[in-house]
Amino acid sequence: VSERDKLISAGVVLNTWGHVPATSGNFSCLLSPGKVLITASGCHKGQLEHKNFIEINPQDGSVINSKEKARPSAETDLHLNIYKHCSSARAVLHSHSPMASLASMPQDRSKISLQSWELLKAFDGIDSHEQKIDIPIFDNSQNMNDIIFEFEQYLQSHQLKIPVYLIRGHGAYCWSSSVERCLHQLEALEYLLNLEKLACRI
Ligand SMILES: [Zn+2]
Repeated sequence: VSERDKLISAGVVLNTWGHVPATSGNFSCLLSPGKVLITASGCHKGQLEHKNFIEINPQDGSVINSKEKARPSAETDLHLNIYKHCSSARAVLHSHSPMASLASMPQDRSKISLQSWELLKAFDGIDSHEQKIDIPIFDNSQNMNDIIFEFEQYLQSHQLKIPVYLIRGHGAYCWSSSVERCLHQLEALEYLLNLEKLACRI
C-alpha cells in the first residue's frame, strides 16, 4: 500500500469519526529525507483522491510535484516544523477533533493532564497508565508562524511526553512513525478526552 493510499484511508476513518468536516484537517508523510507528501488545500479529507496530494521539499516548503495546479495545505508549515523538531516523525495527521477543540477552548487552559487511564499506553513512549502526561495547548492563529513560535517556545522548556499538541478551539496535531500509529493515537486521544469530560475534569 502506498503512503498516498494510507493517507486516503486515514481520511476515510477520520471522516467517519466526524473529525475532518467541511474540508478541514490535513495529512502528510515523509517519503524520503527530501520529500514530504501533503494534502492539497480545499479538498474534503474523507474523499481524497490521488490528485489531492502534493510533494514538497521539507526544507523550504517548495512544491516538487503536483498533478494539478493544487496548492499545499494552508497549514503546511506546521507539518514541516514537526518534521524539523521531531526526528522520529514519519507521518503527521491534523484533525478537527471535536473533543480536542472543546477541551482546548478555555482561555486559561494551557495544557490537559492525563493520568491513570489504561489507554494512555496507546501513545508513543508511554508504557504505564501511571505516567502523567501533559498535552500542551497553543493559541489558535491564522498566522502559522505564531503557532510555530508557541511550539518552539514550549520545546525549549518542556519535554513533550507524547507526540500530540492541541490548538485552541481548532483541533489536534499528532505525529508518529506511521500513518496507522497516528490514527491510533488520535483515536485514543478522543476516547480519553471524552472520559475526562465525563469525569467533569475538563
Ligand atoms: Zn486545521
